[in-house]
Amino acid sequence: MNTHEDHFDVVVAGGGIAGTMAAIAAASEGARTLLVERYAALGGMATLGLVQPITMWGIRNQYVIGGRGRKLLESLNELGPNSATPMSCYGPTCDAERLKRLLESTALDAGVKLLYHSWVASVEKEKDVLTGLRVLSKAGSHTFRGRVFVDATGDADVAAAAGVPYEEDSQGITLMFIVSGINRERCPSREEVMKIWNEHKIGYRELAFFWHPRPDTAYVNVTEVEGLNGLDPWALTEATIECRRQAWQTLEVFQAHVAGFENAYIEQTAPALGVRETRRIIGRYVLSENDILSGADFPDAIARASCPVDVHGAKHGGRGDYTVLKKSYGIPYRSITTDAIRNLLVTGRPISADHAAHSSLRRMAPGFALGEAAGTAAVLALPHGDATSLPASELRHALVKHGAIVMPEK
Ligand SMILES: Cc1cc2nc3c(=O)[nH]c(=O)nc-3n(C[C@H](O)[C@H](O)[C@H](O)COP(=O)(O)OP(=O)(O)OC[C@H]3O[C@@H](n4cnc5c(N)ncnc54)[C@H](O)[C@@H]3O)c2cc1C
Repeated sequence: MNTHEDHFDVVVAGGGIAGTMAAIAAASEGARTLLVERYAALGGMATLGLVQPITMWGIRNQYVIGGRGRKLLESLNELGPNSATPMSCYGPTCDAERLKRLLESTALDAGVKLLYHSWVASVEKEKDVLTGLRVLSKAGSHTFRGRVFVDATGDADVAAAAGVPYEEDSQGITLMFIVSGINRERCPSREEVMKIWNEHKIGYRELAFFWHPRPDTAYVNVTEVEGLNGLDPWALTEATIECRRQAWQTLEVFQAHVAGFENAYIEQTAPALGVRETRRIIGRYVLSENDILSGADFPDAIARASCPVDVHGAKHGGRGDYTVLKKSYGIPYRSITTDAIRNLLVTGRPISADHAAHSSLRRMAPGFALGEAAGTAAVLALPHGDATSLPASELRHALVKHGAIVMPEK
């Protein structure tokens, strides 16, 4: 690969919501930051996975997540009409293309060096220090060196390759899709649509559909396959084919039975398959189900979340669960760091949490906060190259300066 720029301060693997926010925070704080992404856009599940809405920013009408992420989403509508529904504690539904553009331009403006079409395949390390990420692309194999690394691959690919201990679970896998050409004025109420779906549905899933900011379009979350390993390419292929089949069957049900859908069509099935859970690292603290149900707080909390426990997977012997929380819980700095590799932060959905806690914090609003926390921590850890010795109080202070919320709601 023809580049003279292969030494960076901070190297971020994966450009989903968490990785993008980590890179934006690190670059904004002055670090030379590389972001490596296997596809050709930022946003991960939020854009390439067509997963919307971006939930949940607060509870009982009080925000528990702020920071750069909330400001960024609040600015989305300045890009043009129909970019997003209004921001709220629940969260907006965004136009995925507008969001891609906003994330990309914000990252570039912050000074992030973006590398698309490149897959982090393995790591180089010396004892408990990561020294480089080996990246595969059309140009072959290339090693990028950094002083602090952020694993935002969603699957903890970097952590696993570096020997960080982890647990693995799976949940239902879904291919999201967008239906357009809907005559919304003729469309019955949501309750009526649900009733019709329950009479004619294919498969077992409840229907979840969300109006796009454009009035004739909806995001549909209904396809699902369970019991497959989201890290196995054969399983991912099987799930993609089966879910795409279910998407077309769903459209036929709607066209036949729901007023306003007569001329509806599938605008797009998601370029990236929706995998809810794979690896979860075992970091310096494992956030537990009890912690999140009791609204635990921690002196080193660097983000908060209030999303329900939401485990898909009951049909295949797994635990299906949907439990609404009464208050928010703190996410400790120890859950995004590991003693196994001192200069690595793990962010987004695979942080150190048990199966149930993961099913809550995996949502995208916490991802914004966790990404910003990881990127900020990476910069603060640069002088010693050691994220584990960084005082959380210093990180909390830096995050709050940019509007992040680390204290419990009243
Ligand atoms: C079907 C489904 C429905 C959901 N519904 C909602 C919802 O309604 N609301 C909500 O808020 N959340 C929802 N979620 C959860 C949420 O979308 C994800 O958990 C969250 O977006 C994960 O963010 P992330 O940044 O951690 O990972 P991702 O979004 O997965 O981003 C990881 C990024 O890393 C890249 N990458 C991965 N491996 C590598 C590699 N080795 N090298 C280079 N790049 C790599 C990927 O291409 C991707 O861009 C849903 C999830 C799914 C799957």
